[in-house]
Amino acid sequence: MPHTLTELVAGAAPIVVEETRGYWEGTLAEELRVQTCNECGNVQMPWGPCCTRCLSQDLGSIVASGRGRVFSFTVVRQAIHPNFSAQVPYVIADIELEEGPIMTSNVTDCPVEDVRIGMPVQLWFDNEMEDAFHTKLRLPKFRPAKG
Ligand SMILES: [Zn+2]
Repeated sequence: MPHTLTELVAGAAPIVVEETRGYWEGTLAEELRVQTCNECGNVQMPWGPCCTRCLSQDLGSIVASGRGRVFSFTVVRQAIHPNFSAQVPYVIADIELEEGPIMTSNVTDCPVEDVRIGMPVQLWFDNEMEDAFHTKLRLPKFRPAKG
């Protein structure tokens, strides 16, 4: 049985690498940072070592509004890792951010049957966790937008 949060999430948490460090530092500050290209203006997610449009390595970031829409989704009913067994069923969704890029996340705080393509959603941040190398991070998630 797991004894610490680190042991609990090891194998289930993302791993922070140099090229995504700024993204994960943003989540700790409760900011969803979207990567931008200083060369051509491309806005991209997920973060990478270069621009996916022009291959420039001159990259920056902006803080996303946190508003988006469900672009596509699937309902997971069978845990693929023991750490997820208490969470099923849950929704994995591609969220189209107001800024343009599409990112993969979860839709929470509503019955899985209520999730629809095009549904407006709002960002929130899950509790702090650690990756396998003890780097702190928080997972950005989405819930139905109010109003
Ligand atoms: Zn570019």
